[in-house]
Amino acid sequence: MGAGTGGAGGGDAGGELRLERPGLPGGRGAPAAGRSGGPPARGPVAVSRPRRADRRGRPRRFARRGRRGERPGPLRTGAPGGDPGSSVAPGERRGPADRPRRNLCRGAAVTAFLDERSSLPYCPGCGHSHVLRALDAAIQRSGVEPRSVVLVTDIGCVGLADRLFPSLHTVHALHGRAAAVACGMQVYAAGAGAAPVKPIVLVGDGGATIGLLHLVHAAQLDADVTVLVHNNLVYGMTGGQHSGFTPEGLPTTTTPGGNPVPPIDLAGVLAAAGAGYFARSRVPAKELPDRLAAAIARPGFACVELLELCPTFAARVGGVTGKDLGRLAEERGGEGVIFDRPPRRGTMRAQAPPPAPLENPLEPHPSWSALGRTVRVAIGGRAGEGVQSAARLAAAAAALAGLWVAVRTDNPVTQGTGFSLAELALSPDRGEAAVPGSPDLVIAIAPEGMAALGERGWLGEGSPAARTIIDEELPGGDGLVAEREPLVRRFGRRGAALGALALASARGGWFVPDAWRAAAERLPGSRRSGAERVLEEVFGPEGGA
Ligand code: SF4
Repeated sequence: MGAGTGGAGGGDAGGELRLERPGLPGGRGAPAAGRSGGPPARGPVAVSRPRRADRRGRPRRFARRGRRGERPGPLRTGAPGGDPGSSVAPGERRGPADRPRRNLCRGAAVTAFLDERSSLPYCPGCGHSHVLRALDAAIQRSGVEPRSVVLVTDIGCVGLADRLFPSLHTVHALHGRAAAVACGMQVYAAGAGAAPVKPIVLVGDGGATIGLLHLVHAAQLDADVTVLVHNNLVYGMTGGQHSGFTPEGLPTTTTPGGNPVPPIDLAGVLAAAGAGYFARSRVPAKELPDRLAAAIARPGFACVELLELCPTFAARVGGVTGKDLGRLAEERGGEGVIFDRPPRRGTMRAQAPPPAPLENPLEPHPSWSALGRTVRVAIGGRAGEGVQSAARLAAAAAALAGLWVAVRTDNPVTQGTGFSLAELALSPDRGEAAVPGSPDLVIAIAPEGMAALGERGWLGEGSPAARTIIDEELPGGDGLVAEREPLVRRFGRRGAALGALALASARGGWFVPDAWRAAAERLPGSRRSGAERVLEEVFGPEGGA
């Protein structure tokens, strides 16, 4: 590997360029890896000098590409600089994942799991396409039951993979949280005695940076999860920003002078967390399907770091080439299995306690309700005065009466101040019990709730509600037609919402008072006694409004 200095994209001479930063270890003036006979532990990454650059200093090879988002056709129509019709760029070797495989649908390019009837949604030359084809083969070779596989995709370009595997279970997670979602599946499967699942997490280096602790926790748990970290050295989908795994010295859109921070040692971090298995591979590589299959087949936590090329950002901005990926792999400990340890305490399934029976399950009494229509209620009051608790108690009573029910609540992020809203939908028809929709009945307990209901267009002129009830102390307003009731005076501030809903249920024939009482019996301590006082005020001690 040659060594020298210069700008990332400047010059037109051949050879290679070592990116250096003055004043940091391995920067200008520090011994170069090539001269010292071995790469420094935290030295700068060496990237090849682009042979030609455009007027803006971008490597010529990538400068003529369309803008990101104008993604040309499928990889098989021709890799950049390669043979027309080939997905393999010059210098790249064909691997099993590149070969056409059997079609399950006659005349259509459908492999066993990966659906390529339309082009893969990645930029030409993107490593993700190679990985997904290899993953398709790996699932077949691993011997796992396909119905147990759940692809858990993270945010980012690789997250587009879930719709490409239509015959597998897929879940799309929040950015960085895919490993946590996969662990949650295993906790549920183990605790509930459900059928075994095999989550395979597809996460980029950006997601792995954001959710690094989720990877650590999965390793600590030895969760039966396979994590594929698609490390293309930058955040791709969001514009080529540097990640925690960007090599030191590499120019990115957020570090145009070179990344000043050394990359996270993923293998080292996971080894310290007790991970059982870690492998690394460049992409593409002919061994890739087998490397992925070995990780998937292994019980317990397994991680594979995939060093990929993002042509649109890492290559165009940073000048990274396929050869650089090989060099990076060597600097990080080589390719193949880095460590493979026996399970520490067995898999999470073996550790999980047997499922506990549900305490006090709801047992519906369909005879408690003769409701023949859907009822939608919106109730608003002041935070901390029991509005949402009252709606939940009404929902429990409705469920005990055999109705379908949904509740949606809202309040400011401050929780303890401002308004508190609840929407409630009750119906004998499951499909109708969805909260979104115009309320038939609107109830306002306090000024804060009244304002919030008004902002939603549910109070005053134009309100969809057939009936509006407000506390007697609340002011009127333009076009407001409402019945005034002494709700706070009769039930107190903390009981007014429950009193209003109980009165509405009695007048509207939602369900019998025993449904309310049975729901209140399930409340803990003081909440139960408070609710029972209000219900007695409405229905009397013997039942009946
Ligand atoms: S990772 Fe890079 S090359 Fe791949 S699809 Fe995203 S932006 Fe394009």
